[in-house]
Amino acid sequence: MKVHTLGGYEEVGRNMTAVEVQNQTVIFDMGFEMEEVINADGEVNEMTTNDALETGAIPLDEQIMDKDVKAIVIGHGHLDHVGAIPKLAGAYDAPILCTPYTKRVIQGILEDDRKNIKNDVIAVEKGDEYAINDDLTLEFMHVNHSIPQATLSLLDTPEGKVVYGNDMKIDFSPVIEETTDIERLKEAGSNNVKLMIPGTTRVSSPGRARSEESVEVELRGVLNSCYEAGGAVIVTTFSSQISRLNSLLRANDGRRKVAFVGRSLKEYTEAAADLGLIDLSDVEVVSYFDEVEQLMNRVDNEKEEWLVVATGNQGEPGAQLDKLASGTYPFELSKDDHVIFSSRTIPTPLTEANRYSLEKKLKEKGVRLYMDVHTTGHAHKEDHRDFIRYLDPENIVPSHGTIQKLGDYVELAREEGYSLEENVFIGENGRTIEIG
Ligand SMILES: [Zn+2]
Repeated sequence: MKVHTLGGYEEVGRNMTAVEVQNQTVIFDMGFEMEEVINADGEVNEMTTNDALETGAIPLDEQIMDKDVKAIVIGHGHLDHVGAIPKLAGAYDAPILCTPYTKRVIQGILEDDRKNIKNDVIAVEKGDEYAINDDLTLEFMHVNHSIPQATLSLLDTPEGKVVYGNDMKIDFSPVIEETTDIERLKEAGSNNVKLMIPGTTRVSSPGRARSEESVEVELRGVLNSCYEAGGAVIVTTFSSQISRLNSLLRANDGRRKVAFVGRSLKEYTEAAADLGLIDLSDVEVVSYFDEVEQLMNRVDNEKEEWLVVATGNQGEPGAQLDKLASGTYPFELSKDDHVIFSSRTIPTPLTEANRYSLEKKLKEKGVRLYMDVHTTGHAHKEDHRDFIRYLDPENIVPSHGTIQKLGDYVELAREEGYSLEENVFIGENGRTIEIG
């Protein structure tokens, strides 16, 4: 068994891994790296595949181009896992396998990119066994993350089972969906898992990731205080964070009219509504300039009647929160208004600079700010220890992190009895690791 560590082994982003068993190859994830896209000052949709490869926005997949690829398995719908599909998938004569919500996200980005790729996109429900061919079977196991229908992929091969889990946590009080399917993980673990490929994004944080329900409690408290004080209330969070949006609706509990403002909010929440993951019947969802202009004009006249959820929590220039702060619409923020960040700033120089200038605009107007009402979608160190103990893999190739994070994971694996380069390996982008 060979593991090709193609992307996400020297950074958080552009995830792509290929597992080769007896000349048959399965690809896991095809993501892009937001930072590189922004640095290149381009729209990823407008880039050719070669441009995207050159800027480092997408993984270099040259070393598997001549392999017999049987399937492209996508773990969940975040852009660092699906964003390179329009650029790379078309080169492989293989179907894309994912859960139904992830399929909706992929269809959306394919439409935006306007590239015609001929791969079938096949939705596989969690818990179903999907036969890729006589040798390879796939099952998606349920885990918690920060987007609906995230999975651990369990691939059964002639040389043993492979578990790919590149973004997951264990949430004992999730807001939508169930707790990570611990029983199924243990069952899989008792059947000889040959290899596990876990994401390491937050392995350096001690203890456990906080639950979504605890954030809902905090959000309710903040909202209560804002409603008591009066004024406009604007919340910003990640558009794909459907649990958080459900929490907001519950915390609001019908007290104010709710509007979701922004294109990505519209796309992610409408896909979720179609699958019964959020109820938008009492929510005004707007994205076009004229629609937003009209709505914000109404909000400006009845500030205490509205809860506005807007895109742009990272301070992205041109996103809705930035527009609201810049006076783009007939809506004026003042010292009686509140902006709640139900998010965490991604710690890169560019994002921090964007957030600084957004906060500066808001502070100049005297707006009251509430930061970090948030929890991560990624396992902390003790969650990771549980995943290792449940799945009991023979070998581990940690992924989705800088070398530092991969190293921190190796330290954990050593605590659990593994040895570096014997049964736990540090990949680099472009490395091939022989297992067994
Ligand atoms: Zn993710």
